Amino acid sequence: MKATKLTSGHLLGIIWDDRFKEISFSHPMIRDVSKARISRFKEMVKDMENVIFISPDYATFEDLLEVHDMELLLKIKEASSLPHIGFLDSGDTVHYPGILNDVLLVAGSTLTAISMSRFLNIQYIPLGGFHHATRSRSMGFCPVNDVNLAIKRLLDHGERVAVVDVDAHHANGVEEMFYDKPVLKLNIFAYNGSFFPGTGDPSRRGEGEGFGLNYNVALPLLAGDDAFDEALRMLKVVEDFRPTYLLGIAGVDGHKDDGLKSLNLTSNSYNNLGLRLYAMSRRLGFKIISYGGGGYGPGSALSMFSFVKGLTGEKVNEEISTRDQEKKAKVKKLVDSFLEGLSSGL
Ligand SMILES: [Zn+2]
Repeated sequence: MKATKLTSGHLLGIIWDDRFKEISFSHPMIRDVSKARISRFKEMVKDMENVIFISPDYATFEDLLEVHDMELLLKIKEASSLPHIGFLDSGDTVHYPGILNDVLLVAGSTLTAISMSRFLNIQYIPLGGFHHATRSRSMGFCPVNDVNLAIKRLLDHGERVAVVDVDAHHANGVEEMFYDKPVLKLNIFAYNGSFFPGTGDPSRRGEGEGFGLNYNVALPLLAGDDAFDEALRMLKVVEDFRPTYLLGIAGVDGHKDDGLKSLNLTSNSYNNLGLRLYAMSRRLGFKIISYGGGGYGPGSALSMFSFVKGLTGEKVNEEISTRDQEKKAKVKKLVDSFLEGLSSGL
């Protein structure tokens, strides 16, 4: 019975290593909650049908040099040999004894997903989506940037890449590296000009070969599910772009019970996102590699689980949706302005 289902188009690959349960690069105050969501998520998906677990390989230093300066990598290596905990940046991103191996495992996970995409259309990496790190700097709980590594590799293979990044925080590291590259970047995040990392101005639309391909769908703080649904109308730009690969970051730190209180979403929104990406992938034939992003609260694991369910085409409705008419109207206006610009060729 199970074997029949495994051959269906709904099969989802989850990159998994038990070591994931012990890894967090977050601030010491939230490291435990950050690790707990990964363990809880595994418990929730372990008996799910149509899922196969894939063991990741470790990346090498050379792999990381494709998207990072040697200086940063040496800094992480040196910090890794220190006997104590400290910070790789000014006070967010932690280092600890042996961190280098974990960084290489995280980077290797994204490369394993690329290799496995020959056999699997849709994959998920629960510990991934470290979108804040730049070429030369660790930041925002991200020692290195696994998303950038995936984009770079896929571009080198001649693929057409779209990134859909949903998270409480703007994907500054991805935007910075590929701002002038022909990669579609659709970012949906909380924004008020000062909320971390402070970037994400909607007027930033890309440069050079990337001109018109950068979309910052900046949501007001505490936006809610209905405003998020409105933001998802932006997925039209993915349809028009016709990618061969979609990298989906589903950062669950936008959940209403998250310590950050940023987007006021329920797990329903993450399911909605998964369903929409799943349906588009089936229709347009692109492959999906997706990531668990950030998440620091009691709703994190449920949101990850709901997203994954969506990626297998299953609708779930675990919570009462959040609504805010005023914020929804604001988002509608922004989305309309993007989509109108599109139809007038701007
Ligand atoms: Zn985040």
